[in-house]
This record gives sequence, C-alpha cells and structure tokens, in this order.
Amino acid sequence: MSWFKRESGDYESDPNPERSGDAAEKRVRTDGLWVKCLGCRQAIFKADLAANLNVCPKCQHHFKMGARQRLDLLLEPGYELVDGGLRSTDPLNFVDVKPYKQRLRKAQEETGLDDAILNAVGRLGPHSVVVSAMEYSFIGGSMGAVVGETIARAVDRARVGRQPLIVVAASGGARMMEGVVSLMQMAKISTALAQLDDTGVPYICVLTDPTTGGVTASFAMLGDLNIAEPGALIGFAGPRVIEQTIRQKLPEGFQRSEFLLEKGFLDAVVPRRDLKNYLVRALEFMAVMPQAS
Ligand SMILES: [Zn+2]
Repeated sequence: MSWFKRESGDYESDPNPERSGDAAEKRVRTDGLWVKCLGCRQAIFKADLAANLNVCPKCQHHFKMGARQRLDLLLEPGYELVDGGLRSTDPLNFVDVKPYKQRLRKAQEETGLDDAILNAVGRLGPHSVVVSAMEYSFIGGSMGAVVGETIARAVDRARVGRQPLIVVAASGGARMMEGVVSLMQMAKISTALAQLDDTGVPYICVLTDPTTGGVTASFAMLGDLNIAEPGALIGFAGPRVIEQTIRQKLPEGFQRSEFLLEKGFLDAVVPRRDLKNYLVRALEFMAVMPQAS
C-alpha cells in the first residue's frame, strides 16, 4: 500500500516557477496504476482519469493537461503543428543550482518538445482556427523567448489568415533564467494582439491551472473572451507571496477561477468536458458580430 503513503503523491504540484525555478522537478512520478486526487484525496485508477479527460471522476478536480493532449481535445484529427523548431539560446548563460542549458535538455527529453508551447492550425468543429497551447511540464510552462516568439507567430498567423486565435495558458509566468528577455515577450505578444484586434479577428484565451505571473499580466487577460477551467489558480504573484507581503489572511478561494469570475476578471468558467462546445458556440457568435471598421 506504499502508493497511498505520500501525501503529495501526485504527478502535479502547485509551485510558482518564477520563484522556485524548476517546477517540473517537484513532480512525483507515480509509476503505478493509481494516482491520488488533489481535490478529494481519493485514489483514482489512472485509466479512469485518462478516459475522463484528466478530470477526477469523483470530485471533478481538473488535473493538468499537456499541450499535445489539449490540441487533441480541441481540434479535429488531422490538424497541423506549425511554428516549431525554435530552441532557447540561453542568452544569459544562466546557472543557478544547475545550468539552464541542462534544464532545457532535460525538459526537452522528458516532454519531446522544443519548449513549453505548441502551435497548431486546424478545425475546431466547423471553424478554421489557430491554437497555441502551453505545456506546464516544460519548466513550469514558463515564458522565455521561444514561448513568446511562438505565441507571437500564432497571433500573426491568425491575423494574416483571418482565423480566430485560441491560446490555452498553463504557466508559472516569465522564465527567470532568461531575465529581461523573457519579460520582453509580454510586450511583443501584447503588441501583436493589438494588431489582431484592429483586424477584428477573435481571440479567446483559456486559462488553466495555473496561469500566473507575466502570462496573466499579458496575453492571458487580453482575450475578447477570457475563460477558465474550474478551480484553476490564476493571478500575478502567488497567494503565499501576497499573504507574506500584506500580512493578511486571504479569503477562501482567492485567485481561483470561480472567485475571479465573481469579481469580474473572467467571462466564464467552463468545465473541460464542455470546453470544445463552448468555443464552437463562442466563435459562431463572434462570426456574426460586425467586424471592426
Ligand atoms: Zn477527486
């Protein structure tokens, strides 16, 4: 019964890579057939979890979902991956407890991706769309030059092709190992999005657990629609940092999707099983809206 002993015996934790540096390393691998749900703390059969879109069948806790799985969930089969092949140059030659180059190599091996992002073009129901999906298990989904450039290319692609853009955010924020280069991505993507907005092409951001730091402070909150999965941590600084700074206890559910919806920061909270249909209907609605002149 050793599987049940570890309190955090799950393949996800809730770190903030802007502070901890390497979220992916905190994952605990569960090679067995069971995982313990972070929501209800019950053991779930892994196959049941996978069959239920990585949502706990007992309490509806939404586990994290990889970029590739996300594209499979949203797009019809036969979609095309685009804008790949970019890799970080490690502009600062950054070393903390270990070299950034080494972290990159490990993340690339483990995920099979070049960085924490995948762009795809394909059909979402009847709509031709551009989708950019972030990969949290690649250094906490943090945004360095490659993530920023790849998202900016998705935005440009949507603008030039006049196809709606959907970005699925899953990120601890800026990638501190790229310093100011990572912060510059916020401005670059925001500028591209302003140009997209001028053309009247819709942009929807789907915020998933977690969406924090420089990602929230830029493109994740700039959608024509900003929607989130249930229970996702969404904020700028993490709750622990805020609590330590203001020395006050934060309210229950602070920085979770439902709280943000109530406070007017989000347009909707949409369960994963309904996400695709919701996006199809939203795009239908937006297509009949008058275009910006
Ligand atoms: Zn559960």
